[in-house]
Amino acid sequence: MLEADLIVVNASEVATCTGSAGPEGLAPIRNGAVAVRDGRIVWVGPEAQLPFKVRTLEATRVDARGGIVGPGFVDAHTHLVFAGDRAREFSLRCAGASYASLLAEGGGILATVRATRAASEEELVRLALPRARRLIAQGVTTVEVKSGYGLSVEDELKMLRAIRALAEELPISVVPTALPLHALPPEGREDRDGWIDRMLEELVPAVAEEGLAQFVDAFVEEGAFSPDEARRLAAVAAEYGLGLRLHVDQLTDQGGAELAAELGAVTADHLEEVSEEGIRALAESGVAVTLLPTSTLYLKCPRYAPGRALADAGVKLALGSNCNPGSAMSENFALALSLACLGNGLSAPEAYYAATAGGADALGLEDRGRIAEGYAADLVIFDAPSFEHLAYHMAVPHARVVIAGGRVVHEAEDLPGCL
Ligand SMILES: [Zn+2]
Repeated sequence: MLEADLIVVNASEVATCTGSAGPEGLAPIRNGAVAVRDGRIVWVGPEAQLPFKVRTLEATRVDARGGIVGPGFVDAHTHLVFAGDRAREFSLRCAGASYASLLAEGGGILATVRATRAASEEELVRLALPRARRLIAQGVTTVEVKSGYGLSVEDELKMLRAIRALAEELPISVVPTALPLHALPPEGREDRDGWIDRMLEELVPAVAEEGLAQFVDAFVEEGAFSPDEARRLAAVAAEYGLGLRLHVDQLTDQGGAELAAELGAVTADHLEEVSEEGIRALAESGVAVTLLPTSTLYLKCPRYAPGRALADAGVKLALGSNCNPGSAMSENFALALSLACLGNGLSAPEAYYAATAGGADALGLEDRGRIAEGYAADLVIFDAPSFEHLAYHMAVPHARVVIAGGRVVHEAEDLPGCL
């Protein structure tokens, strides 16, 4: 007898995302059902074949009401934890102010660094919780969260502890990343090498010792950090058993994709300016790419990352909201999904696959992002007629029921549905 404590029934379609990436990746089941026990998926298939003897009496029966069901979104790149607000800078920037004049006004990333340093760990958690809840309401059941606004050993540790505390408060999975090389703080200007030394020799070992992150990350860009500085970080990360993620080729082509391939990074993120050689290097090395189209829009960059060319070259793709106070102040994962199509050139099923199975793969999570036996029961019921519809009907929430670890963690009963 199949025993379940939660079953999802009456779905028009269940996207299992068990195919390989590409148009066939969703591997959908018409009129599918999912059975869950102790937070894990124990059965998925056509509802008509739901084992007759499934013990449903005590099971929570979740009615999809003819909607579609898929794995919860894996938001593979965010900066959810920060203090402060840069709305004025946004307004000035939209009205044509130059980056230099914004910096002179006290804007830019260092404004967030000042506010984050002034905030306590508890305050950072309090500020991040509603952002995470907005993501959950969109159907996100796994989120990667980076540090990078502390930029001193002590403040980076405070941020990472806040991410850990946030994870304890949330019903979804949180993957923490330490981002010591995000921007050079004022004290680093007099002694750049000394500051980097402290990040690598004091912060990274402390992060590893306290188990505060699985990955480290660096922003490789003109005016940020050089490929050689990222190489130094990679060497230290390897020493401490931490994986490497990189922000590369966002504003200018720094050979960041090639660097990510050389260093065996787990992911290379952004890539608006990646070259053809860079795409080849990623494909050959198996480095995954996280597309972050919301920030491409937000910063009015001249071009989106070439998602189409990357996919055609066989590069594994993930998707992130990149929620952050400077270049993507939005938890609207549905917007990112649409922009992955409109900007990056993916089809709607490819975008959904990148946003689920692709994200799980890019974060090294072997039991997330798909609907299959043994996987974590992270599921979303969308009040939408098809998976194409989610990207097509842009920036509108379609998630009616969000299930994480086999529990209903969000329900939008008053959602004006699209069925
Ligand atoms: Zn980022």
